[in-house]
Amino acid sequence: MEVIRHDVILVGGGGAGLRAAIAACEASPGISVGMVSKLYPMRSHTVSAEGGAAGVARDDDNMDLHIKDTLKGSDFLADQDAVETFVEAAPRELTQLEHWGCPWSREPDGRVAVRFFGGMSVKRTWYATDKTGFHMLHTLFQTSLKYDRIVRYDEYFATRLLMQDGVCRGIAAFDMRTGEVKCFLGKAVIMATGGGGRIFPFTTNAAVKTGDGMALAYRAGVGLKDMEFVQYHPTGLPGTGILITEAARGEGGHLKNRLGERFTVQYDYGLGDKAELGPRDMVSRAEMQEFEAGRGFEGPYGNYVHLDLRHLGEENIDKKIPFVRELARNYVGIDPVFEPIPVRPVVHYMMGGIDTDLDGATPVPGLYAAGETACVSINGANRLGSNSLPECLVFGKRAGDHAVQYVAGGASEGSEAELVDQARGEASRLEALRNKKGGERIAQIRRELNSTMEQGCGVYREEASMAATVDSVRQLKGRYADIGITDTSQIFNTEIVQAIELGNMIDIAEAVVMAALDRKESRGAHTRRDYPTRNDADWLKHSVVTFSADGPRLEYKPVTITRWQPEERKY
Ligand SMILES: Cc1cc2nc3c(=O)[nH]c(=O)nc-3n(C[C@H](O)[C@H](O)[C@H](O)COP(=O)(O)OP(=O)(O)OC[C@H]3O[C@@H](n4cnc5c(N)ncnc54)[C@H](O)[C@@H]3O)c2cc1C
Repeated sequence: MEVIRHDVILVGGGGAGLRAAIAACEASPGISVGMVSKLYPMRSHTVSAEGGAAGVARDDDNMDLHIKDTLKGSDFLADQDAVETFVEAAPRELTQLEHWGCPWSREPDGRVAVRFFGGMSVKRTWYATDKTGFHMLHTLFQTSLKYDRIVRYDEYFATRLLMQDGVCRGIAAFDMRTGEVKCFLGKAVIMATGGGGRIFPFTTNAAVKTGDGMALAYRAGVGLKDMEFVQYHPTGLPGTGILITEAARGEGGHLKNRLGERFTVQYDYGLGDKAELGPRDMVSRAEMQEFEAGRGFEGPYGNYVHLDLRHLGEENIDKKIPFVRELARNYVGIDPVFEPIPVRPVVHYMMGGIDTDLDGATPVPGLYAAGETACVSINGANRLGSNSLPECLVFGKRAGDHAVQYVAGGASEGSEAELVDQARGEASRLEALRNKKGGERIAQIRRELNSTMEQGCGVYREEASMAATVDSVRQLKGRYADIGITDTSQIFNTEIVQAIELGNMIDIAEAVVMAALDRKESRGAHTRRDYPTRNDADWLKHSVVTFSADGPRLEYKPVTITRWQPEERKY
């Protein structure tokens, strides 16, 4: 078996992974980084981010205000020390990106332009028209090319963390071009593998967002934190789930029901003329209530409402949100200059993920995580739009820096023979999977998983349907053990890739619904009809799901409060 050695093994080439790789190289002149990614880095989901990245930039704004907005958005579940660290570093990171070449949009006077985003009390979202993620990822990627010490392994799929004496010392990954499993040994491993929205049927997330990194860390003994909090974005296109960015409302777009009413006004977020700019959990709930009251439109993909941009005018739309026009024209055949766009709530982001501290360190020595796969946590029960891109930068950098410190502190590589043996064991497991002849079909199990997750863990939740989803996910896990693979080839075997992804999705889906069923309150994106209010006395705590041979275990840990006492969440 081929053994590949680097000081740091990085899994993921999206915003968080690239930022971590650059940070590691800047922190130490000798460090070598092996960057393993199942996609060519520029295809990572970060590329599709549209609306922008938040960071204090103006005189009417300040750090405390951004912290307060983020905490309120999180329904006070975020760790306050993490949010302080994040808010303080975000403007620095966004400026650094400018110095590396990111073409931020400008005001006429030359200053970096900022726009409104949901739940942010002032304009603080930096943007590059409405292709922000595309420009940020390009900037990071081209900067990473400066370093020969970042060695890329594109289209390699990581399937297992290699552990010895409770310490993470590498990964097993296979080259998708040849099917060959390789053993990657490193003194530190950073997971930057993105989210897992694909466990739901209707999502803005790319097909590759299957929560692989979360599942790998979970099986290696790291807890998954706050998994019950899944964000629905209120403006996805019916059918495809393609996102119409919140920037469309930030620039003044209106949400309207079948009667032509700006319905969010009635839900009284206290935002006056910016009624559409409530946080995502609240606006998604408002849409569901409109549907239930019969004030939605009926379409082939269920109910929807209208996002009306007509009053913004063609020039403004083309200047500020041209991609919205492009997407609406191409995917629903509507030109928003002349007609409203049909939209509905759609799964967008997982607030939960691999349990880390402020430095990206997990409880397992040698293992770090950053970006959407990690839960630091700054997002708590509901992330504010435009906080995720800067989160990838701030905590990607911190994870890169700290992994280098850990390596410099004398982290050992462990016994190579034993680690290579583990990788060989993984190769045998994958070989057995490739030859599986069971009666179950991957696509069928994935469909059933998607549908039970939507039934149990939608915008509104309740005991009976969540309990049914727990049972269904467990049954699907049993059936997964009996899947059949028809494509036994080695070269670009996408059936094997999908089989592995499905196994990962089932594990993280189980963590989501288990934590959701146990949390008997409503907080942020977790809204229960049977427990409609927030209950700080019993539930101001993070859930942590850990793997055990007898099935997942659920524990809780405290939320860090520094200066902001939890209060009623009003806008
Ligand atoms: C449509 C859309 C629009 C968005 N718009 C915004 C916005 O305007 N502002 C904002 O702040 N946030 C936005 N978000 C959220 C934000 O873009 C993401 O949370 C963030 O980009 C995630 O970055 P990441 O680096 O953590 O992961 P990703 O960019 O998803 O990258 C994950 C990487 O991990 C690799 N990987 C995964 N599994 C494996 C494996 N098993 N083996 C090897 N490699 C693996 C992949 O190849 C990839 O390189 C948006 C999200 C979506 C879906």
